[in-house]
Amino acid sequence: MYKYNTSKESFILPSIEVSKADFNDSLLEHLEPYEREWILSFIRKIASKNPNWNFDPFYNNLATLSFRKSNHFNIGGTGSYDLKKNIISYSDETCIFHELLHTATSMIAAKRYFGGFEQITKGIFHKSIGVGLTEGYTNLLEGRYDTVHGWYCMEMDIAKNLNRSVSDMETYYNNMDLFHLVAYLERFTSRRDIIDFLEMLDYINRNQYKESDRLRKEIMDLYYECQVYTFRCMIMKLLDDIANNLITYEQAQEKLVFMINFSLSKAIIGKKRCDIEPIEKLRGQIPDLIHISENDIKTYRLTL
Ligand SMILES: [Zn+2]
Repeated sequence: MYKYNTSKESFILPSIEVSKADFNDSLLEHLEPYEREWILSFIRKIASKNPNWNFDPFYNNLATLSFRKSNHFNIGGTGSYDLKKNIISYSDETCIFHELLHTATSMIAAKRYFGGFEQITKGIFHKSIGVGLTEGYTNLLEGRYDTVHGWYCMEMDIAKNLNRSVSDMETYYNNMDLFHLVAYLERFTSRRDIIDFLEMLDYINRNQYKESDRLRKEIMDLYYECQVYTFRCMIMKLLDDIANNLITYEQAQEKLVFMINFSLSKAIIGKKRCDIEPIEKLRGQIPDLIHISENDIKTYRLTL
């Protein structure tokens, strides 16, 4: 049963500065030729589309990175990246790009693991946050730079919708900077709501493959809450843009309708394919939501 954890509100640390690193061939000397080609192809694909990508975390990890072929994977993935050991395990090659994205956005600092938007303390009784959003956003970038093979459909859908209201989201992910993502989102919603959103997505990420009708209902409800959260952010962003004369009300409405039409309509939870109904609930409310006077914009908080 999902329960909000208030202690997480002060848990998130600012990202620790990543040491500078340059690429040279000696970083790959310990790898097989085909593994080197995976890495070179990964760098080429990202650099050709995003010249601002920060490769320092990747180059820092490359010197000791290793790959291990393995056939032992739970449902939910064909690969994994273990930051502690700096090993990518995989059962087939389709997951390599995804795992290299994790490798390129991970580091250990201040007694915790930083990875994309996640922060995990070391030790047996570890605490974590941002794992679901990290998986979703990793899948989203897989699609942007390569081909999506990921399993995290719900997380990806939520990450995609949140990305529409956060212009620097990729930079935050690249620099393992959950702290500044949260600071940015505080323009739109309370800190408590942000942490609750991240925690709900983590809960979905941990539990969606378990087979139980009770859990399925709970995950559908939490998924709806996460979706509503991303729509709240988007509406606040659009209201800002309207106030700054960047777009018109009509354009804002079009963007919202587009967001609804391209949100997930089905998801597999446990072993069942489920219809995601909340979209229909949201659809009828959008025209009203956007027509708010400019005076209300600063204090406006969406309640659905
Ligand atoms: Zn992953």
